[in-house]
Amino acid sequence: MVGMGVPFSEPVLEDPVAERERLLEELALAYRLFAARNWGDLGDGHITVRDTEKSDHMWLLRFGVSFDQATPEDMVLVAPGGSATHRDGRTADINITAHYIHHPLHDARPDVGAAAHTHTQWGTPFASERRLFEPISQEATMFFENHALFDDEEVQILSDDGGKRIAHALGDNRAVILANHGLLTVGTTPADAVGWFLFMERVAEAHMKTRDAKPISAEGARIARDDLTSFEVGWQAFRWAVMRHLKN
Ligand SMILES: [Zn+2]
Repeated sequence: MVGMGVPFSEPVLEDPVAERERLLEELALAYRLFAARNWGDLGDGHITVRDTEKSDHMWLLRFGVSFDQATPEDMVLVAPGGSATHRDGRTADINITAHYIHHPLHDARPDVGAAAHTHTQWGTPFASERRLFEPISQEATMFFENHALFDDEEVQILSDDGGKRIAHALGDNRAVILANHGLLTVGTTPADAVGWFLFMERVAEAHMKTRDAKPISAEGARIARDDLTSFEVGWQAFRWAVMRHLKN
C-alpha cells in the first residue's frame, strides 16, 4: 500500500483538545462513509468515540441528522447517565439506544476508544442465523477467535442492562454479532472500528452468498489472522474507503 496515498499508521496528537478535534472530524467521516454504503438510511445505527479528557463520556451524531450530512459540529457529548449536550453546552437529543449499547462497551473495555453498529444488507440477515463466522475467506480469518455472538432475545436494547450483556458477550474480541439484529465492532478510533466494520460486512456477505463453503483449518486461520492484523488494518481500510467513496 506504500506510495498509494495511504500512510502506514494512525496519527495521534498529544494535545487532548487537538486530538478531540481530529477524532470528531474522523467521526463525521465515519458516519458519511456509512451513508456512502447505504447504511443508516433509516436512522439506524451509531458510531461513538470516547472523549479525550472525560474518559467516561462519549461523542456521537446528534439525533435527526442524515448520516451523509454529518459534520464535527453535529457531534454531541454523552454523559454516563445518557444526557447529552451540544458543543456549546446546550442540551442535545440523541438516539438513546446508542447510549444503552455503546456506554457499557466503553465502560467495560478501556482499550475501546470507538464502537460502530448499524443494520446492513448482509450483516443483519447473517445475524438471524445466530452463529459465528467460519474462516471461509481471507477477511474472515481476521475474525477467527476474535468475535462473539450475542445470542439473546433482546433485539431492541431497552436499557443499560442489555448493553452490559452485549459487552459481556463481546469479551476481549474485536466484534460481536447481535443475534437477529446486526453487526458491531470496536476499535481504538472511529476509523479503526469502522474499518473493521467494513471487513465484517464483507465477511457476512461471503457467508450469505456461498452455498457449500469449505473453511480453512484453525491453524491456517490463525496464521492469516495474525498476519492480517499485524498492522493497523482497520484504519487503513477506512482510509481506502474514504478515498474511494468520499470526494471531500
Ligand atoms: Zn441496531
